Amino acid sequence: MRIILIGPPGGGKGTQAKLLCQRLGLAHFATGDILRDAVKKDSSEGALAKPFMANGQLVPDAVVNEIVNSRLRAPDRPADFVMDGYPRTLEQALAFDTVLKQQALQLDAVIYLKVEDEEIVRRNSARLTCINPKCMATYNTVSKPPKTTGRCDLCQQLLYQRDDDKAETIRNRLQIFHERHQAILHHYKRQGLLVEVHGCGDIEAIYAAVIQSLKV
Ligand code: AMP
Repeated sequence: MRIILIGPPGGGKGTQAKLLCQRLGLAHFATGDILRDAVKKDSSEGALAKPFMANGQLVPDAVVNEIVNSRLRAPDRPADFVMDGYPRTLEQALAFDTVLKQQALQLDAVIYLKVEDEEIVRRNSARLTCINPKCMATYNTVSKPPKTTGRCDLCQQLLYQRDDDKAETIRNRLQIFHERHQAILHHYKRQGLLVEVHGCGDIEAIYAAVIQSLKV
């Protein structure tokens, strides 16, 4: 099964993507995680992406498309996956259509996780991420607090607030999301792939709604 998750930053895409991957055996493809890793490793892609990410802006399409294309063209490419955070522009969606076609892969669904802006600002400014690059688990001081304050449940390393989770950056990212997402939703609606799920409330209840929308 091949799925795209679309939703505002901090709207729960990552959480739902991880559940889908664990429970349906899909590969998790999160461009944000790949880019953060590239920044940490100080690779050429990382150096290009860093200033955009720190300001909550989108990394140029060419950089992100290349990351996705090279992964999908690799001999060990995943056959089934969840795209989390890609595509984020119509140009990316068109580039993704092209590589999927080249690789004879078809999408099963594009899930739009709809969450109101106020809820996003409240949630994101409460989000903490594990500092360990091999873990990068996320928590939320309101809805999913760690067992020990400031420490990761999984690897016990420190938790921190990502630069792009700070209030001003969140507002920037939300504005960018609103400017772009209508065109992407329209694109996938025309392909008959779009389903909408309300992304507020209990994580398991949202997951159940996601599964129902997939009809699996
Ligand atoms: P995320 O973890 O998905 O919220 O992404 C964190 C940051 O990485 C975003 O604010 C962007 O700067 C960058 N990023 C991730 N995915 C993309 C994408 N598909 N296109 C452009 N920039 C991206």
